[in-house]
Amino acid sequence: MKSSAQVVVIGGGVVGCSVLYHLTKAGWKDVVLVERDILTSGSTWHAAGGFHTLNGDPNVAKLQGYTIGLYDELEKISGQACGLHRSGGLILADTKDRMDWLKMAHARAKYLGLECELLTMAEAKKLNPLLEEQYFVGAMLDAADGNLDPEGTTHAYAKSARINGAEIYQGTRVTELVHRTDGSWDVITEKGNIHAEHVVNCGGLWARELGRMVGLELPVLAMEHMYLVTEEIPEVVAFNKEFGKEVTHIIDFKAEIYMRQERTGLVLGTYEQDCRPWQPRQTPWTFGRELLQPDLDRIAPNLELGYKHFPVLQKAGIKRVINGPFTFTPDGNPLVGPVPGIKNYWVACGVMAGFSQGGGVGLALSQWMVNGDPGFDVWAMDVARFGEWATRSYTNEKVRENYSRRFSIRFPNEELPAARPQQTTPLYDIMREQGAVMGDSWGLETPLWFAPKGVEPKDIVSFRRSNDFKHVKAEVHGTRNGVGVTEIANFAKYRFTGPGAEAFLSRLMTNKMPKTGRISLTPMLNPNGKLIGDFTIGKLKDETFYMWGSSQAQRYHMRWFEKYLPVDGSVKIERLDMGMVGLSIAGPKSRDVLQALTDEDVSNAAFKFMDIRAMDIANCPAIINRVTYTGDLGYEIWVAPEYQRRLYEKIMAAGKAHGIITFGMRALLSMRLEKNFPTWFRELRPIYGGFEAGMDRFIDLTKNDFIGRDAAMEEKRNGGKLRRVSFIVDAGDADVLGDEPIFHKGKVVGWVTSGGYAHYVEKSMAQGYVPKELASDLSAGAFEIELIGEMRKATINVDPPFDPEGRRMRG
Ligand SMILES: Cc1cc2nc3c(=O)[nH]c(=O)nc-3n(C[C@H](O)[C@H](O)[C@H](O)COP(=O)(O)OP(=O)(O)OC[C@H]3O[C@@H](n4cnc5c(N)ncnc54)[C@H](O)[C@@H]3O)c2cc1C
Repeated sequence: MKSSAQVVVIGGGVVGCSVLYHLTKAGWKDVVLVERDILTSGSTWHAAGGFHTLNGDPNVAKLQGYTIGLYDELEKISGQACGLHRSGGLILADTKDRMDWLKMAHARAKYLGLECELLTMAEAKKLNPLLEEQYFVGAMLDAADGNLDPEGTTHAYAKSARINGAEIYQGTRVTELVHRTDGSWDVITEKGNIHAEHVVNCGGLWARELGRMVGLELPVLAMEHMYLVTEEIPEVVAFNKEFGKEVTHIIDFKAEIYMRQERTGLVLGTYEQDCRPWQPRQTPWTFGRELLQPDLDRIAPNLELGYKHFPVLQKAGIKRVINGPFTFTPDGNPLVGPVPGIKNYWVACGVMAGFSQGGGVGLALSQWMVNGDPGFDVWAMDVARFGEWATRSYTNEKVRENYSRRFSIRFPNEELPAARPQQTTPLYDIMREQGAVMGDSWGLETPLWFAPKGVEPKDIVSFRRSNDFKHVKAEVHGTRNGVGVTEIANFAKYRFTGPGAEAFLSRLMTNKMPKTGRISLTPMLNPNGKLIGDFTIGKLKDETFYMWGSSQAQRYHMRWFEKYLPVDGSVKIERLDMGMVGLSIAGPKSRDVLQALTDEDVSNAAFKFMDIRAMDIANCPAIINRVTYTGDLGYEIWVAPEYQRRLYEKIMAAGKAHGIITFGMRALLSMRLEKNFPTWFRELRPIYGGFEAGMDRFIDLTKNDFIGRDAAMEEKRNGGKLRRVSFIVDAGDADVLGDEPIFHKGKVVGWVTSGGYAHYVEKSMAQGYVPKELASDLSAGAFEIELIGEMRKATINVDPPFDPEGRRMRG
């Protein structure tokens, strides 16, 4: 065994072997993998081996497409068969809603370059004659789906890695990880120690235990999962004989089962409602290649429906029942990347679909380690997406919810209930009393909209306009015609202090730093010139900057800041979290409300657009920014939580004369749409350049050098490839949700990033990306957007439909 290596990958399941292979492929050869037992000894060996491209997140879907495409390459390099059966997969919808969901997935596949086809049930039956078509309304075929041999595939990765120079030590359990002061690791194993620059936790069922070795509680939990293997089924044999191919794989949304051919019979697996976590606190090191006791009673409701939908099962003998554990995260996507705050400790775990995702996970992680950037948009898998609030018991509740919803559709206005409410602001009860429908924003309860008296505060989930429509409209009109107040505690807030703070921020951000008392809006780029952040920065006084950004990206951003933080102690960064909460007032009467609460002069001359001030508001020490995301005259007022109730009450009292209303996030998002404002994680993501995203005004190439400047200069010179554009959509009873394909002259040319109804200007709007050459085609209806299976005309609109000159916010 080597005594030192550049990387030690811990865990020889499909994910660890993929990471090892991809590291060698990316050019790092001094890499080793250590496995406790023999390869595949965790959840890998007893997997059902199915693979699919479908995923709710288009970027993960792309990586799944990559994984599935990789198997031929692996077989070629290693000479090891993966046991591939590319049978194709059918997803069966039993209701109109589920069919709508399939139509949207089908539309998305068009811009992802995935091969999917919507089928009638008669067409579906030709591919799998075992189904009873009267129970379904339609289907989607994904040609890339299939299944493989889990052991063969893992060994194909391992052999390919070895051919490229990697070494693998089996029967070598890691018992301890010791961090040296230079950031490298002593990996202590039962067979000796290895000194490594980097370690990667691919511990699968033991990922939590490997996390705990470095003081980390990873939000990962294993669930029991059962599948049945049948004896020979004559109908399957007859189909194979007649058509010379296997029956097509099936996912049945209603019965929550998957089913595929296995030799001359079938495999049928369930995602049951009555699900069970496995080893909720700790996975024993003694757990070997064992199976768990099956419990058919728990899956009886699924089997009952399955037997009705696929009657041949009623006569089929059951050869084996497999019950095995595998891991999930609270949102079902993997945990990948460098762990914030622990140098050179990487994770690739919580992978619930190792044979759909393992390749993409390995590719992204290896590029991240070798090049400093994953090379894709991997936000949906980034380990930094969960905050400290994702505790073990939170994870337990969310994973059970996620498991039992594996084949459920999630509506765009659907808030999932498990583990809520968790964090609340001091206004929570008051907001609820006022009819707030709450949403979860990075663990914090945040008002979405307000049901007036007599209206039930509840969303009717739908892909179309729903029961909140008229109430959100009233909130938007109330704000734009007078004044509205909303909670903004869910923003990320940071404080940067110290003599080096300004230079530090200026090196990271693309815009000039503000003068004292002023605010700058600024993107942040990575060295490739891609957008990795978008912030509001205010300089309150010398050496003191406040910054606001996306709450969901707090740990993602902190990881970046800490990477560049000077070691001389000249900059201090604080994440303020719920230590700072906020209320925003907006609308033409908002200045009157503010003035009534302070003896400071807040006239337009004294307190200008983009000013920041520390002020006493209604006896509360506050920091006030003269900006709002509504694009209207408005203010963000930031206070410590103990002042928030008083502040809200005083604002409401002062606003009474102006008919003040309280509005929620949905009204705020509607108002930003009619201003063409982009939003982080939708329009602004690490796959877009700053100029592509139309952030030109905030990228100052003439200031000091900043990270990504060279790439930004090059993008400015060549114009990049894409353009963010805003559309007016000729919609019916549904608005875009995001991820719909954009067509031009009948061809898919781009995708929607977000949209909705802009209530004040009364237009259905969308934002998205198209090739830059097409962004100048302003003719009416030049584009089309596929909206729940219907083609809708869309027209680029250059100027924001609300207040195009920005008079309201500056006035
Ligand atoms: C019944 C069942 C059916 C499934 N069906 C499918 C399917 O159809 N399609 C699909 O894509 N996925 C399926 N899965 C899920 C799939 O098995 C997992 O996604 C995959 O196995 C995850 O691989 P992994 O490498 O992350 O974890 P594991 O396979 O758990 O590998 C982790 C490895 O790390 C090793 N290890 C842990 N700690 C240490 C240590 N301290 N030192 C050294 N080594 C250590 C372990 O021994 C183990 O070999 C199924 C799972 C089950 C249980």
